[in-house]
Amino acid sequence: MILNRIHLGNFRNYETLDLEFHPKLNIFIGRNAQGKTNLLESIYFLALAKSHRTSKDKELIRFNQDEAFVNGNITTSYSNLPLSLSVSGKGKRAKVNHMEVSKLSQYIGHLNVVLFAPEDLNIVKGSPQIRRKFINMECGQISKVYINMLSGYQKVLAQKNNYLKQKNVDRVMIDVLNEQLAYYASLIILKRQQFVDTIEKYARKIHADISNGQEILAVRYKPNIKYEATEVGALEQELKALFQETLEREIERGQALIGPHRDDIAFYINDFDVQTYGSQGQQRTTALSVKLAELELINEEIGEYPILLLDDVLSELDETRQSHLLTSIRNRVQTFVTTTSISDINHAIMDEMQALGIEDGK
Ligand code: ATP
Ligand code: MG
Repeated sequence: MILNRIHLGNFRNYETLDLEFHPKLNIFIGRNAQGKTNLLESIYFLALAKSHRTSKDKELIRFNQDEAFVNGNITTSYSNLPLSLSVSGKGKRAKVNHMEVSKLSQYIGHLNVVLFAPEDLNIVKGSPQIRRKFINMECGQISKVYINMLSGYQKVLAQKNNYLKQKNVDRVMIDVLNEQLAYYASLIILKRQQFVDTIEKYARKIHADISNGQEILAVRYKPNIKYEATEVGALEQELKALFQETLEREIERGQALIGPHRDDIAFYINDFDVQTYGSQGQQRTTALSVKLAELELINEEIGEYPILLLDDVLSELDETRQSHLLTSIRNRVQTFVTTTSISDINHAIMDEMQALGIEDGK
């Protein structure tokens, strides 16, 4: 999938901007606060009809203006499609192939993107909660069943916690809730395991590429419950028994102590834990590899690579990692990268790319 051109009007600090893109690699170079991230954000917005940094669409409209718009043209292996999206005080309007669509769900999905922003480093460095959010987002994108199971689990878990807080705990009620939790949890756990295995397969290859074969990345699912079953029915039974065993302790503590709400993922490079022992560059490379594995997952799913947006990733990677990253990826995936300085760009990647200087929204 290729984004050929983009046209912005009153988007963030851009009054108007008309750009044609290189099919492989586009680098946006500019000092701080000139509009590099804004430009990536406009592409993300064109794809998903929302920003990656704010939930308030109003912030996307240029100061003192009423309406912002982003138009773009994409080419996939089977079509050429103009997309257009605008946002004003009245909300959003979306057009596909010049025809207005009544629901955003009809709009989203034509342009697929994967974005890596500085915050994504938290997949490695942050709390388990951030990793659970990541895994839920990813699994949810691939599996509708997962979304249903997760929301079922969370609802019942909240009820269980409520019951556990009461003075006279109703054991019969909690048994009923535990049965439901075991049902939801068994599916969630197996899906997560499957997802982490797939991510690892791809991320390991990408990480080896970027690190010039020096580092072997492992991604491990750390389920909060140790289990042996390999299929849903057996796991459900195993979980039921475990929930029963834990009940008295849960009553004592007044909260649900075990289950996928306490799961985690761990990352290892050449067998050491990246979160604890990894250097900045290794942590960044790990987070990147895991995020880039998404490209492969989407390709598996829809038979086409999405476009890739990389915000501020070059600065912490040495020249070897930079050029391995950009040369290995650009042959499969159209890539958009921001950087503050031209000297950040390795000469090895200078051919087959377009560099654009950005200054004050121009
Ligand atoms: P850095 O290298 O620091 O990340 P950047 O080039 O990525 O910088 P952006 O975040 O793209 O910077 O742009 C920031 C600029 O855009 C700021 O000067 C900010 O004031 C301006 N800006 C943000 N929103 C709007 C808006 N709605 N209208 C006008 N200007 C805006
Ligand atoms: Mg920026």
